[in-house]
Amino acid sequence: MAAGDTTDYGGSWYEPSMVTPLPRGKLTVDLDVDVCVVGAGLAGLTAAREIVRRGWSVVVLEARRVAWNASGRNTGFVLPGFGADPETIIERVGLEQARSLWALSEAGFEYVRANSRDMPGAEYAEGGWLNVSKTDEEADTAKHADLLAREFGAAVEFWPATRVRDVLQSPLYFGAIQYPKAFTIHPLNYALGLAAAAEAAGARIFEETPAIEIDPDGVRKRIVTPTARVRATHVVLAGNVHIGRVMPSIARTLLPISTYIITTAPLGELLREIISYPGAVSDTELADNHYRVVGGDRLMWSGRSTTWRGDPRRYMRPLLADIRRAYPQLGDVEVEYAWTGMLGNTVHRMPQIGEVSPGFWLLSGFGGHGLNTTAMGGELIARAIVEDDRTWRQFMPFELVWAGGLLGRAAMQAYYWGYRSRERIKGRIARERRRKAEIAAHRVAADTPDSAASAGKS
Ligand SMILES: Cc1cc2nc3c(=O)[nH]c(=O)nc-3n(C[C@H](O)[C@H](O)[C@H](O)COP(=O)(O)OP(=O)(O)OC[C@H]3O[C@@H](n4cnc5c(N)ncnc54)[C@H](O)[C@@H]3O)c2cc1C
Repeated sequence: MAAGDTTDYGGSWYEPSMVTPLPRGKLTVDLDVDVCVVGAGLAGLTAAREIVRRGWSVVVLEARRVAWNASGRNTGFVLPGFGADPETIIERVGLEQARSLWALSEAGFEYVRANSRDMPGAEYAEGGWLNVSKTDEEADTAKHADLLAREFGAAVEFWPATRVRDVLQSPLYFGAIQYPKAFTIHPLNYALGLAAAAEAAGARIFEETPAIEIDPDGVRKRIVTPTARVRATHVVLAGNVHIGRVMPSIARTLLPISTYIITTAPLGELLREIISYPGAVSDTELADNHYRVVGGDRLMWSGRSTTWRGDPRRYMRPLLADIRRAYPQLGDVEVEYAWTGMLGNTVHRMPQIGEVSPGFWLLSGFGGHGLNTTAMGGELIARAIVEDDRTWRQFMPFELVWAGGLLGRAAMQAYYWGYRSRERIKGRIARERRRKAEIAAHRVAADTPDSAASAGKS
């Protein structure tokens, strides 16, 4: 079994099928460029590619390897929208701007579609996303779907519990919202493909090259690495939660969340009988229980988020227990891959996209919704730098907010635990209500002379 950080890419399911990355060395000579991007995750890579395509010189500094963490280890669901829910966004910025932000999120979604569809190894797969409820409040689920469709023109459908149970044979599930256009990718190969495309257009990417000091003041900014320096007119900070030491004030605005993922051994035909939905599934609001079928008959399942970085092997049993709760029919399941990745949540669950001071740009805080939003953010920053486009200003209402330090992490962890147990209790009550309703319906049917007669006939 592959587990833990014994390799650069954390022993993930994606690693054995990764395309061979280009050999990239450390930066050893001083460079003068238009733009220096710090961080080669999806955010930094998209920004670099979009800037270099517009004719400016770009260097990317990566402390470790291209897409070694969140960008190359995630569950690969590409969805529209943001981490923050639409109601909260409307409350913050009003309906008109919320619509415009949603449209930007869809542009990011389409960017990934257009670029991954034919990319070698990116495994672009259409199939949709089913966001399932574990309680019987179907009216709320339907109302939410209606809001998305009516106010944002989103392609979503409300599915009642009966329809959900046709494709997901779980005793836990009720109604759902389906996003039929959502798709999945192999995120590591997608990121490596973006890096190769940026390089083909002229960007230079250096690995094992951390920016250890950044002086963002002045017209020409100075970025120091252990082996050489870079001078640039613009700096794009795309380091996510790993930026820590070099920019502590910015790092403090992100809450680091570790999420654990497993991929099971092949489960045979039974898996597709139980989960016939072809796309991705999530059954909670939190970073828990997101899953999809991979490799024909394996289950990839993520969740059990913590505000500390744990050993993925320790989360295998809890994740298996989550699978067993949702799909007891699967019986004993073996794990073949277990890994972890770290995302960075902002307090408002919206990304940090904008100019911190003249020529010093921030592109971070994409949370668990980063595949479409890193694409959108990378393109917005490129347009801002090269074309003086001001669209990024739509994110200004979501300013940098301190994430609360250790206290914030403790509060978030307590919230996760509380949320999970509240969710479990609500689910249990809903299932009990359903059981009683089914018994009552059965009794009525048995007591009705017509149905008794027809039952007798059949
Ligand atoms: C387990 C997991 C599952 C997820 N599933 C999904 C999903 O299904 N769908 C979805 O939309 N989103 C998902 N996400 C979220 C998504 O993966 C992230 O939001 C996104 O990849 C963040 O990209 P990034 O470029 O901002 O950060 P990262 O990928 O973390 O990249 C930042 C890079 O910056 C580098 N860096 C930091 N500091 C420095 C420095 N000083 N010098 C040089 N380099 C530096 C780091 O080494 C790192 O490589 C998931 C995340 C996780 C962890």
